[in-house]
Amino acid sequence: MTRSVGHCRMVGHIEGQSRDQATLFPERLDELIAAAAAVRVVDAFVDTLELAKLGFGKTMPQRTGRPPYAPSDLLKLYVWGYLNQVRSSRMLERECRRNIELLWLLNRLAPDFKTIADFRRDNREAIRRVCRAFVQFCKGQDLFGAELVAVDGSKFAGQNSPKRVWTQGQLEKKAAALDKKIEEYLAKLDAADTQESAAEPSAADIAAMLERLRAEKAEIEQSVLLMQGMAMGQVALTDPDVRLMRGAHGVVVGYNVQVAVDARHGLIAHHAVTQDSTDQNQLAPVALAAKEALEAERLEAVADAGYGDADQVKACDEAEVTTFVPHPRSVNPHGALFDKSVFAYDAATDSYRCPAGKTLPFRRVGKDEAREYRAARKDCCGCPLKPRCTKSARRTVSRHRHEATLEALAERTRARPELMAKRRCLAEHPFGIIKAMAPRFLCRGLPAVAAEMALSVIAFNLKRAMALLGIPELLRRLDAAPA
Ligand code: SF4
Repeated sequence: MTRSVGHCRMVGHIEGQSRDQATLFPERLDELIAAAAAVRVVDAFVDTLELAKLGFGKTMPQRTGRPPYAPSDLLKLYVWGYLNQVRSSRMLERECRRNIELLWLLNRLAPDFKTIADFRRDNREAIRRVCRAFVQFCKGQDLFGAELVAVDGSKFAGQNSPKRVWTQGQLEKKAAALDKKIEEYLAKLDAADTQESAAEPSAADIAAMLERLRAEKAEIEQSVLLMQGMAMGQVALTDPDVRLMRGAHGVVVGYNVQVAVDARHGLIAHHAVTQDSTDQNQLAPVALAAKEALEAERLEAVADAGYGDADQVKACDEAEVTTFVPHPRSVNPHGALFDKSVFAYDAATDSYRCPAGKTLPFRRVGKDEAREYRAARKDCCGCPLKPRCTKSARRTVSRHRHEATLEALAERTRARPELMAKRRCLAEHPFGIIKAMAPRFLCRGLPAVAAEMALSVIAFNLKRAMALLGIPELLRRLDAAPA
C-alpha cells in the first residue's frame, strides 16, 4: 500500500511531491547537485591529477579478469569522505548507496568496504603526494605568500587504549608485584599439601594459578628485554607505533602532528606525522620541508618556545630559514637567584661579567659541549649580592655551544613581538578544523596514519581554497589547470 506525501499533516504545512509522481522528462542526477557544491570541487580536483605519475596502482585497465575500480573514483570517495567527516570504509560503503552527492560523484558505483579500505592501504605514499599536488596547485594560483610560515604541533590519539601502553619502569613494577604474588601462592601451595579443608583452594587450583602468573611474568620479561634491545622507552600492545605523549588536555597515546601554515591565507604548506613526544627536534625538518614545498629562496618561520632548540635554529639559519622563537620560561630551582641573562658575555676575552662587576673566566667544556665559566672564590666570598646569586661557594655560568645563535634568535624575536600573536592565529586554526573533522586516527601504524593525515590536510586546504576563492571561481581555475 502506498501513502501520499502529507498523509498525517494539517492543511497549511509545506508539502513535498508524491513519491508516486511520474515525470514526463526524468530528472538528471546532475540537476540535483548545486552548481556551487563542494563535491564538484572534489570531482574537478581529482580529474586534474596524473594518478599514475603520483604512484597510484591499477591506473591501467586490465585485459583479463574482473576490471578493478578506477583509482580516481576511490580517491574522490576518500576526499569527499574526509571533507564530510565520513572516514571509515564501512560508512563510506553505506553512503555510496544512499548519498545523492556520492551517487553523482561515483556515477552510481558502490564499492564494498574492503575495496575502499584496500585502496587507502595500498596507496599511502600516493595519497601523500596528492596532498603535495594540491599545495602546488594553490601555489600556482598565488594563494601562498611563501614568506612566513607558522610551525606548530598537536597530539592526535591513535588506535591504542592508554591502558595498553607500558613504560619499562611500569613493566618492572608489574613484574615485581607478580613475583610477590607467586611467592604467596607458593606458600599457599605448601599449606594446601598439609591441610585438607574443603574451604581452601585445592593444590591443583593453586598450581594452575601459579602457571598463569609465571606465564604473565615471562611475557613481561620478554617485553622488557625487547625494549632494552631496541632502546625503546615504552611498548604499546594495539598499535606498536603510538607513543605516550603529553597533550594540551593531559596524556595522549598517539602521534605528534606537525604543520607549517603559510601566513598569507592560512593554508598548510607542509605537514608531518611523527612519534616524537616533544616538538624540540621538529623546527628544522618542518620549516625546511615547507621552504622546499613553497620553492622559496628564503623563508621566515615562527614557532612557540617548545621549538627553541639551538641545533634546530642553527640548521634553519644554514638553510636560509630565519626563525622566531621566544625564549622558554625557565624555572630557577633555587628560587629568586640571578638569571644567566644578567651576566654579560665578552667575546674578546671569552669571559662573563657578573652584576657585581667581577669576571667569570672560562673554566672547562662540560656536558653537551657547553662551556663553563666560574667566578673566583675570593670574589663571591665577600660579595653583598651572593644571597641573590648562588648557594654554592661561587657562581658558575654555562654557555651553550651555539649560544651566539640563541642570542641572535632572542634579539630578532624581541624585535618582532607581533609575530607571536600571528603564530597563535595561524597555527591553531588548522588544528581546530582538522580535529573537528577527524578527532583521532582510525588506522594503526605510522605509514597508515600518515596517509590519513594527508587526507585530512587535503580536506582542510580544499575547504580553505573554497572559502578564499569561492566554489565557482575555484572550479573555473581547476578546469583551466593542465591535466
Ligand atoms: S656572588 Fe660572585 S658571581 Fe655573584 S655577583 Fe657576587 S661576585 Fe659576582
